[in-house]
Amino acid sequence: MKNRITELFGIEYPIIQAGMIWCSGWELASAVSNAGGLGIIGSGSMYPDVLKEHIRKCQAATTKPFAVNIPLIYPDIDKHVETIIEEQVPIVFSSAGNPKTWTAKLHEHGIKVVHVVSSAKFAQKAEAAGVDAVVAEGFEAGGHNGREETTTMVLIPGVCQAVNIPVIAAGGIASGKAMLAAMALGAEAVQIGSRFVASKESSAHQNFKQTVIETGEGGTQLSLKQLTPVRLVKNAFFNQVAKAELRGASSDELKEILGRARAKRGMFEGDLVEGELEIGQVAGTINQVLSAKEIVDEIWAEFKQEQKRIAGFI
Ligand code: NDP
Ligand code: NDP
Repeated sequence: MKNRITELFGIEYPIIQAGMIWCSGWELASAVSNAGGLGIIGSGSMYPDVLKEHIRKCQAATTKPFAVNIPLIYPDIDKHVETIIEEQVPIVFSSAGNPKTWTAKLHEHGIKVVHVVSSAKFAQKAEAAGVDAVVAEGFEAGGHNGREETTTMVLIPGVCQAVNIPVIAAGGIASGKAMLAAMALGAEAVQIGSRFVASKESSAHQNFKQTVIETGEGGTQLSLKQLTPVRLVKNAFFNQVAKAELRGASSDELKEILGRARAKRGMFEGDLVEGELEIGQVAGTINQVLSAKEIVDEIWAEFKQEQKRIAGFI
């Protein structure tokens, strides 16, 4: 397939794996890139030396392009950027912050920059900052989320209308059918997170992968809107936060409940009770752990099949 996104990244299919803390290390990123999509190392949970190790292992495991996601609120962001430049990573996906801060520097080193947004207004800001493309991520998505609760169905056409750079759709996409829908709305690629958490190569704990499979429709909810909105599985930790929110707990109280390293505890160490489990609504449709290649192949085959089915109506 050929469009602005496949050309920009030099990839076969416009299927991008989301950068996800504790779940997307070098193994998943290289497997997705080797399958013809774009793999992303999620650096938000990695100490600087760990990121360096993952980039080097990814380079050894694939000759194809891959990217690193940097949440701009990461405490040692300067070190991550330095590593990315030194190790000649070709593509960066930035999120959770102002794209003005790092885009020019990354571009100076020939690195392509994509920024993740949750509204048409932020998409325009990202375009003004000079990014090469945006990921428009809707309310269905797992993990960090926009405050406005704009769903993918509404967000994608709005963002496509607001900017001239290519748009990558994210949030609620885990199948070829959803990919086709997103492209009908104007996106030129999709970014997929939850489906790849439940993959063989993901570094998520086995318990978390099993939870993704068992989570049904309505099994997740946006939480902690007062701090940083995040979509979580409704486990005991989520319920504790929900109760506190209901009684009008202050931001400080919520921070105290959250504590430190909850995401690691849940997603990497597999504590399903006390841990934070970040996953999208679409977990409700995922019922099997497959390899990254099987996932990419399945999505691409379904995308083409559905295109034909719909063309048959006309
Ligand atoms: P491996 O798959 O071989 O990772 C094994 C390493 O992970 C071991 O050194 C072990 O450290 C550590 N580890 C295992 N279980 C846990 C746990 N429950 N909590 C914390 N650390 C654990 O190599 P990789 O190349 O995949 O990983 C290299 C490094 O990257 C490791 O340090 C790993 O923790 C980290 N990583 C980070 C991810 C992230 O998103 N931040 C994702 C994947 C890996 P030890 O024997 O010292 O306990
Ligand atoms: P916490 O403050 O609760 O904990 C920090 C976690 O990050 C710890 O588990 C720690 O590992 C790890 N870590 C890696 N590098 C550093 C560093 N340089 N300094 C301190 N801690 C580090 O944060 P969260 O777990 O809630 O979030 C961690 C990061 O992930 C944040 O940067 C956040 O923005 C990002 N994030 C990104 C999301 C996304 O969708 N891309 C979603 C949620 C969070 P250890 O326990 O081994 O010390």
